[in-house]
Amino acid sequence: MHISDALSRPEIRAADRWIREHDEETLESQIELSEIPAPPFGEAARGARMLELFVSAGLVNTRVDGIGNVIAERPGTSGDGHLVVSAHLDTVFPPGTDVSVTRSGDLLKGPGITDDARGLTALLTLARALDAAGITPRTSILFVATVGEEGLGDLRGVKHLFGPAGDARGAAGFISLDGAGLDRIVSRALGSRRYRIVVRGAGGHSWTDWGAPNPLHELSGISAELTRLPLPSRPLTTLTLARTGGGKSINAIPQQAWVEVDTRSADAAHLDTLEAKLRRTVERREKAVPALDFEVEIIGDRPGGATPDGSPLVRAAVEATRRRGKEPLLSLSSTDANVPMSLGIPAVTLGCGGDAGSAHTTEEWFRNTDGSDGIVRALDTVILAAGLP
Ligand SMILES: [Zn+2]
Repeated sequence: MHISDALSRPEIRAADRWIREHDEETLESQIELSEIPAPPFGEAARGARMLELFVSAGLVNTRVDGIGNVIAERPGTSGDGHLVVSAHLDTVFPPGTDVSVTRSGDLLKGPGITDDARGLTALLTLARALDAAGITPRTSILFVATVGEEGLGDLRGVKHLFGPAGDARGAAGFISLDGAGLDRIVSRALGSRRYRIVVRGAGGHSWTDWGAPNPLHELSGISAELTRLPLPSRPLTTLTLARTGGGKSINAIPQQAWVEVDTRSADAAHLDTLEAKLRRTVERREKAVPALDFEVEIIGDRPGGATPDGSPLVRAAVEATRRRGKEPLLSLSSTDANVPMSLGIPAVTLGCGGDAGSAHTTEEWFRNTDGSDGIVRALDTVILAAGLP
């Protein structure tokens, strides 16, 4: 079937119309979901509501997996493999944050209203539109609301989903719906690896014990060496000392000092090289100062990867974007799609229409400028990727 033939079928046009006619309900569920707190490692309440909404959207086999991902299916005709469409449940906001949403016309304001209440509501509207238009795709579609996309969540939901016990193992493709916008297609994954380096010792009084090994002095030396490591510029590879601490008193040799280091690159090999250099830097000091204890702990590991521009999934997203009158922008980011990309499974992340700003702050906002176009783009991408019988 030619690419645009599928999209001109009457049931797809009906789903397109349904999405536009139900724009108000889409915004209402976006507000409702955004007002259910979903702090890191605390997504259960929002997940429980998504489960109910998945059921009411006509999806089947609804369930919560071992790590908290909420999963449901729209079965296809082919019986083999499935296409995963997902959005993430978690926000960056700690428990106790006021997550109430204020609305004036098309402008919605509230922490997490775009990232990723917009993706979650798009996921639901998409499921409802497929149901209302009676569309049975060729490849089954697995709808997933994931946990742990942000920060120290470290993609744990999507890692579980594609892991040995996960429901998406062997998926034909993965589409993450994340945030707003209509032209960006994330087809390359920025990898990151994060470390906590801790140096421990006996400590002591800063005058009477002076000369005893000082964990903070050693850590400062290591930190300075790390900032001088040469970094490749293609692809851009970065190393950032992000947080540090240690010591309890101004008149004491600390018993402990620590620093957290963030490294990023689109190329996993560069992250490996950087890790080896970081470990060697620490080991050299460890040998030089045996009285102190040195530890390197990995506190985050988001694998990198890419979906080739010519892959059917990227071409589907490009076609769907052009149909909305936008010139597609293939881009690099760190999202749930990192994990399938690192496994060689075709994956993209798409925004879900509208404009947005101040993400990851309590001033976050979403403006519903042609927002339904974003969900129609997701529909078209899904149909082109899953196929029709
Ligand atoms: Zn997000």
